[in-house]
Amino acid sequence: MNYKKLRADNTSPSRRSHAPLSRKPLSNVKKRQSSISDFSKLVKTASEVSAPTYEADRCFNNMPLSNSLKRNLAAKGYVKPSQIQDETLESLLAGKDLIGIANTGSGKTAAFLIPVIERLIKSPKANTALVVVPTRELALQIEEEFKFLANQMSLQCASFIGGTNINRDLRQARQNNHVIIATPGRLRDLVNQRALSLKAFELLILDEFDRMLDMGFVKEIRSIVKDMTGRVQTMLFSATLEPSQKGIIQEIVVNPEVVKVNDGESTNSQIDEDIIHVPEGADKMDMLIEMVSDSGFSKVLLFTETKRWADKVCKQLNQSGVKADAIHGNKSQNYRNAALLKFKNGGIQVLVATDVASRGIDVNDVTHVINYQLPLTYQSYIHRVGRTGRAGRSGKAYTFVN
Ligand code: AMP
Repeated sequence: MNYKKLRADNTSPSRRSHAPLSRKPLSNVKKRQSSISDFSKLVKTASEVSAPTYEADRCFNNMPLSNSLKRNLAAKGYVKPSQIQDETLESLLAGKDLIGIANTGSGKTAAFLIPVIERLIKSPKANTALVVVPTRELALQIEEEFKFLANQMSLQCASFIGGTNINRDLRQARQNNHVIIATPGRLRDLVNQRALSLKAFELLILDEFDRMLDMGFVKEIRSIVKDMTGRVQTMLFSATLEPSQKGIIQEIVVNPEVVKVNDGESTNSQIDEDIIHVPEGADKMDMLIEMVSDSGFSKVLLFTETKRWADKVCKQLNQSGVKADAIHGNKSQNYRNAALLKFKNGGIQVLVATDVASRGIDVNDVTHVINYQLPLTYQSYIHRVGRTGRAGRSGKAYTFVN
C-alpha cells in the first residue's frame, strides 16, 4: 500500500477485508496537549542504505580484553565494536568518567558492560557496579546482556525493578551481587529498608539519563549519587543532551570524556520518518488498519499517550483481525514480558505501548514505529522512533497528525 495515498486522500480501498468495524468512538478518552508544533521535524528521508555506517578498524579480538570476555563476545556474534564501544573502551578501562551521547540501538549497553566485566574479571568484588535505568524492560535487557557477556565467570548480577514483589528483592539485595541493575524508585526502597547500602559501589552507570529526568527521577538520582560515597567512576548515557540537563550532569561526573555518536538532537539516520495527515472527518483507526494490512508492516510498534488509549487501540486492532497486544504501566511485569516475547517471536504483528514501556524495547527488527497520537515532546518522539532502525538496520516511523 502506498501510505502517502492515505495522507492525501482517505478513500483508497482496503487490501484486506476486515470484520465490519462497529467501534465505539475514542473521543471520550482524555487528550493532553503536545508541545510539538513544527511537524517538519517529523519528516525525514533515511540516508541511502549505502551511506557509510561506522566500521571500526579493529576487532574485539585485538582489544585489551581478557580471553574469557573475548570468547563471550564472539559467542554473542559481536566481532567488531560499534562506534560508542570503539571510542570509549580505553578511557573507561582507565577509570575515566564518561558522558556518552548515543541513540538507543548504538550498542551502548555493551559499551558500559564490557569495561565493567573486565574490571570484575581482574577484581571480582561484590557491590562493584550499580546500573540505574528508567524502566523495567531496560533493566531486564541489560541483565540479559550481562548474563551473556559474563557467562561462566561466576559473576552475580541482580535487577531490582518496580512492580515486582519487594520481598524477593529484599532477600536478594542482601546477597553478594557484583552488579546491580535497578530502577530509581525500587532502589530507593531497598536502601530505605536497609537491605542495600550504596557505599561500597565504585562504578555508577546512569543509562538513558535524559529519560530518567523526563520521568521525574531527579531527586532519586541525587540521593543515589550522595549515598555512593565510594564512587570512583561514573558513566552517563543519554540519547539527547539538552541545556537543561547540564547542571545536574555537572554535579555527577568529574572531568568526563564526552563521546557523541549522534548529535543529541535527532533520530538515527537510517530511519525514514513521515507524518500522516488525518483529514477532517476521517477515522484514524480505519487508516491505521489499512496501513498495517500492508505486508511490509510485519513488526509494528505503536505508541499511544495513555494506558487507556493503548488498551482501546489494541482491542480494536484485534477486533479487526490484526494480532496485537499492549504493554503499559497497569500490566503486570509477567504480562509485559510475555507480550514482548510474542512480539519478538512474531506471534503478534502490532505491539501497542505507552512511553513508559517503550524505553527498554530492544527488538532489532521492528519494521515500523507508529505514533498513533503526537508525542508530548520531541524528546519523547526521538526515543520512540529509536525503537526501529536498530543495529544498522533501516526503519520507518509514521506520526498521525490532525
Ligand atoms: P543497545 O544500543 O545496547 O540497546 O544495542 C542495540 C543492539 O545492538 C542490541 O541488540 C545488541 O545486541 C547489538 N549490538 C551491540 N553491540 C554490538 C556489536 N559490537 N556487534 C553487533 N551487534 C551489537
